[in-house]
Amino acid sequence: MSMFYSQNEKQLLAFGEKIGQKLKAQDVLILTGDLGAGKTTLTKGIAKGLGIKQMIKSPTYTIVREYEGRLPFYHLDVYRIGDDPDSIDLDDFLFGDGVTVIEWGELLDASLLDDYLTIRLDKKEDGRQLTFIPHGSRSQELAEELDYD
Ligand code: ADP
Ligand code: MG
Repeated sequence: MSMFYSQNEKQLLAFGEKIGQKLKAQDVLILTGDLGAGKTTLTKGIAKGLGIKQMIKSPTYTIVREYEGRLPFYHLDVYRIGDDPDSIDLDDFLFGDGVTVIEWGELLDASLLDDYLTIRLDKKEDGRQLTFIPHGSRSQELAEELDYD
């Protein structure tokens, strides 16, 4: 299983940037972890790696924000959909030509997803532990790429 350890916010941003550079159209990332684990911080790095200049704001109240970079970028935070996973139409994002990052994505019905990479963020005393869990061949490839450099 692949892992990454980030000692501080800056390292997490830099790691996100590396992910952003490797993403391809239709990639889906699910970020899991407690409040404050670093999901939004990682997403900011990913956006930078996708060439997005705009400020990334947490979409908690809007569910989704869309940005234009090297690829269209959909940033979702589904914390608030809670017990009503049908309240948003994921098809709009997941089957487009962009890349999708979903904070709290474990709350969604994963059967909607074909291939996705889960990144679990765990708070540690002095940093954050990231664990990659691929679900499919493309996400496996992505996880390996992240592991090798
Ligand atoms: P989430 O979206 O998971 O709720 P955020 O990214 O919004 O989390 O917040 C992470 C918080 O943790 C920030 O306030 C950040 O400064 C802090 N932090 C402390 N150590 C780290 C680390 N090693 N990596 C990332 N963030 C860290
Ligand atoms: Mg967040």
